[in-house]
Amino acid sequence: MAVTIEEARAAVLEHARVLGAEEVYLDEALGRALADDASAPNDVPPFAASAMDGFAIRAADTLDGSARLRLVGEAKAGAGAGVRVERGTAVRISTGAPVPDGADAIVPQELTTRPDSGTVAIEGQIAIGYHVRPAGEDIRAGELVVRAGSILGPAELGVLASMNIPRPRVVRRPRVSIAGTGDELTDPGKPLRPGAIRDSNGPALGGAVHRAGAELVHRVRVGDDLEATVAVLGEALRDVDLLITTGGVSVGPHDHVRPALARLGYEEVFAGVKLKPGRPTTFAVGEDGTLVFALPGNPVSALMAFRLFVVPALDAMLGRGGEHHPVKATADEPLEGAVGRTTVIRCRTTLQDDGWHVRPTKSQESHILTSMLGVDALALVPEDRDGIAAGEPVEIEFVG
Ligand code: AMP
Ligand code: MG
Repeated sequence: MAVTIEEARAAVLEHARVLGAEEVYLDEALGRALADDASAPNDVPPFAASAMDGFAIRAADTLDGSARLRLVGEAKAGAGAGVRVERGTAVRISTGAPVPDGADAIVPQELTTRPDSGTVAIEGQIAIGYHVRPAGEDIRAGELVVRAGSILGPAELGVLASMNIPRPRVVRRPRVSIAGTGDELTDPGKPLRPGAIRDSNGPALGGAVHRAGAELVHRVRVGDDLEATVAVLGEALRDVDLLITTGGVSVGPHDHVRPALARLGYEEVFAGVKLKPGRPTTFAVGEDGTLVFALPGNPVSALMAFRLFVVPALDAMLGRGGEHHPVKATADEPLEGAVGRTTVIRCRTTLQDDGWHVRPTKSQESHILTSMLGVDALALVPEDRDGIAAGEPVEIEFVG
């Protein structure tokens, strides 16, 4: 019995577990979920620093509104002055340099004059703390700054670096295999014998796997033969978290993926989704929790089913949730539906004053792979509708 798209997604999320953690360098951590709370071992900034290029002084020396201070040294970023600022003296200082002992304010260079090379003159009173960045002003030692589960973006990477966490523990990336089935499939670049076609699912889904943040471990192919399918899928399933097969999952006499998975001990969670295109999409799980998505061979269906079911699974495994967050758009052209199935329409979006708008790309027939070019969203015509009229709202999903 085919399930609805919602039932299918719920079943996928029920089986997709967050993977274990690994330590990675910050440069490899973009987009990963942090596995542990990150607390600061030290203050950031680690010392009181100057916020300006100018002079470190004692604010009390400016109380009478006109000060002349003797220069006794210089503090640069990365190096202290090595002298104390005593009454009546100043230290030349750069942005980011440690504020010397004895000083409690920074006078920006623009507010000073230099009567001679050994003296700085300041008009007006300067307040204590002026242009001083106190130690720990950004982060206090011990403070919990980035919580477990946070997705590491550029800002998080910078903050972890500032906290001296060079190798955070993050949720590891899913290891994925892709297995294409079909006697007709030929790699691009190889001669095409009569009746054969190019394997476009391999490269398309390989790219989709990378884009989803997973690691592509094996990409294999097998002809339409049960024994060979059992052997090749068994091999492709070694040491991976998730297998994607394409083709061979319908009801034809040469469709061997489901029997092969059964032989390998995988249990079907659903076989068939009330979806157009993508109806044969099948989902099975192994005893060890390995997930298998058997996608239709049709390249458009395969890519769509990947977006609808595999992306949420990979997101969940990566610790990013994977829940579905519906976005509403207005259909600028009629969208054709099929009662009894959710119809997925490939679209281009525009953002207008009243929100997102969608327009279908060319022919929606499922063998027209070029209809996926430039697609940035899928519009979902609900199963109880035979279409959406122009101007009506429709739910969309962006394609990453
Ligand atoms: P199947 O699901 O095996 O019945 O395949 C459905 C259609 O998709 C057939 O026309 C296949 O030739 C085609 N097809 C299957 N696998 C691929 C692939 N990897 N690349 C391109 N087309 C494919
Ligand atoms: Mg086939």
